[in-house]
Amino acid sequence: MLELKEGFRRFSAKADHAFYAGLVAGQHPHTMVISCSDSRIIPEYIFDAEPGEIFVLRNVGNLARTEESSVQACIDYAIRHLNVKKIAVLAHNQCGAVKATEHKEHLDTEGLKKWLEQEEYTGSGLEAAEKNQAVRQLAKLSEYTTVKEATKDGHLELCALYFHLEPISLEIYEDGKWSSL
Ligand SMILES: [Zn+2]
Repeated sequence: MLELKEGFRRFSAKADHAFYAGLVAGQHPHTMVISCSDSRIIPEYIFDAEPGEIFVLRNVGNLARTEESSVQACIDYAIRHLNVKKIAVLAHNQCGAVKATEHKEHLDTEGLKKWLEQEEYTGSGLEAAEKNQAVRQLAKLSEYTTVKEATKDGHLELCALYFHLEPISLEIYEDGKWSSL
């Protein structure tokens, strides 16, 4: 716990307390991001966002597992109650979750097996597999009722993003292809 206690003390000493007081009134995020749990991938850092701007769902492999109630609750709340205008699936390079799906026989815990065994590893090489996995999440999202209704009304856009750790860069998936931002 030492790292967390010390970290909080440093955070609290330099935090803008007036800004945090303003957040008590509520949250108005513009975007929901579905991100990997990977500790190197921090959506708020990558998009230079303040608290209150991004509503984040994180799990192993940035999966839009819309048949799971925790994922449904997050998406429903973001769209129906917070009125987010975008949902972005944020994939990244060197993703351990995607790597693991190349050799699923090596998944060594019940939890990892349950979570990842239905995932596919497609394309030639890890980057292609990571990007294809993100595109599949978009397809899953667009089939989910709450998303379907919101996109039909023009209130919601979906996109996939791919973050490279080194050199730092971001690609966006639009009109069926990836391009650099
Ligand atoms: Zn990952």
